[in-house]
Amino acid sequence: MQKTVHIIGAGISGLSAAVRLANANYRVHVHEATQQAGGRCRSYFDAATNLTIDNGNHLLLSGNRHAVGYARSIGTEAGLVGPKSAQFPFVDLTTGQRWLLDLGDGRLPLWVFDEARRVPDTGLRDYLALMPLIWASPGKLVGDTIPCKGTLYERLVQPLLLAALNVDPPEGSAGLAGAIVRETLMAGGQACRPLIAREGLSAVLVEPAIKLLQDKGASIQFGHELRAFGMSANSVAELKFGGDNVAIGPDDAVVMAVPPRPAASLLPGLKTPSKFRAIVNAHFRVDPPKGQPPILGVVGGLVEWLFAFPQRLSVTISNGDRLVDMPREELAQAIWRDICKAAGVAGELPPWQIVRERRATFEATPEQNALRPGPVTTWKNLFLAGDWTDTGLPATIEGSVRSGDRAADLVQAMRQS
Ligand SMILES: Cc1cc2nc3c(=O)[nH]c(=O)nc-3n(C[C@H](O)[C@H](O)[C@H](O)COP(=O)(O)OP(=O)(O)OC[C@H]3O[C@@H](n4cnc5c(N)ncnc54)[C@H](O)[C@@H]3O)c2cc1C
Repeated sequence: MQKTVHIIGAGISGLSAAVRLANANYRVHVHEATQQAGGRCRSYFDAATNLTIDNGNHLLLSGNRHAVGYARSIGTEAGLVGPKSAQFPFVDLTTGQRWLLDLGDGRLPLWVFDEARRVPDTGLRDYLALMPLIWASPGKLVGDTIPCKGTLYERLVQPLLLAALNVDPPEGSAGLAGAIVRETLMAGGQACRPLIAREGLSAVLVEPAIKLLQDKGASIQFGHELRAFGMSANSVAELKFGGDNVAIGPDDAVVMAVPPRPAASLLPGLKTPSKFRAIVNAHFRVDPPKGQPPILGVVGGLVEWLFAFPQRLSVTISNGDRLVDMPREELAQAIWRDICKAAGVAGELPPWQIVRERRATFEATPEQNALRPGPVTTWKNLFLAGDWTDTGLPATIEGSVRSGDRAADLVQAMRQS
């Protein structure tokens, strides 16, 4: 008989669990509080630029095997676009120096032995000093594990870890940083090719999943916020949506894939991360100059990464709490000045939009990492998913999909037990 599963939250973690279970022949019901799927990874039409933009520029790497597998499962792997080999152009705004970090396309990080492919002015010894990160425990600080100064740090380690952890790297969890380094830099260029959803996050990672679910007979209800669980002795017996309650049978399962704050209020006593960091994205309606790379690493400025899309240049600034209260126009002007230097363009501020996601990610510090629960709860038919659950990774799409896949596997294991 077909079993039923309810997925609460249609972010990437909920969608990946839903797709996996629909493919395993479950009757899937998705409940999403807002009017749109995708959560923190979504596109929308923006009137200021007259373009469809993403809430944030999202970078995946080819070594993000769960995320790429998820895209494959919804038929959009080809929509994750990137160069053939792992090449990252960089510019230093303070000196004007430009360089290309070329990680090649091998399975081993052999590029560190080749002076021409290393970060300029760095030696092999600088890279060897990063080794302790690989085995570091999550309770240790990055700042107590590797040198957080010098050319290699400023030009590679800092930009990479800041983007991955969304905290100033020295205060980040060395274990989480180590997971990133093991799965990307240590796995060679083959795992480091940058991938972007060029047609937009929703078109590549969200809408095709909704379509697949609908084609498989799943229900997806928007504006359907879970307000409370009704529990029996050891399982979820009811989902309360405020007037519209759903009874949960003993063999039915529930995956709760909501962010930490609603999770903590729906399940009092659940330990969750409680501190978050912002990410600032700014989008400028302008044709990228000829030859502008899809992604440019920027050091020595406010901007950290500059993305080129058709008709648009967009930037990402991580660990952006210092910018959330800055007047919008002033911030747009400051970012545009950096873009002019980085992309070699000039001119008045074009139409722009700034998106400040205040709680973009949980704080990837040892203290907050210790608050992440695993997927299993004391209720035998209730499982947790989300980038903030204990995935061993910082808050990323890869972590979200991994958590969704893991919750789906637990639902299936419940069926067999
Ligand atoms: C600006 C920005 C830039 C980022 N850049 C990158 C990047 O470059 N690379 C990368 O890998 N990751 C990046 N991330 C992180 C990535 O977006 C997240 O890790 C991922 O989207 C989280 O997915 P999730 O499903 O775990 O959570 P969410 O996306 O938060 O989804 C949770 C869903 O649950 C819904 N919900 C909440 N409460 C209820 C309720 N009571 N009932 C029903 N539904 C509910 C919410 O509305 C939401 O849709 C970025 C994030 C931001 C914000």
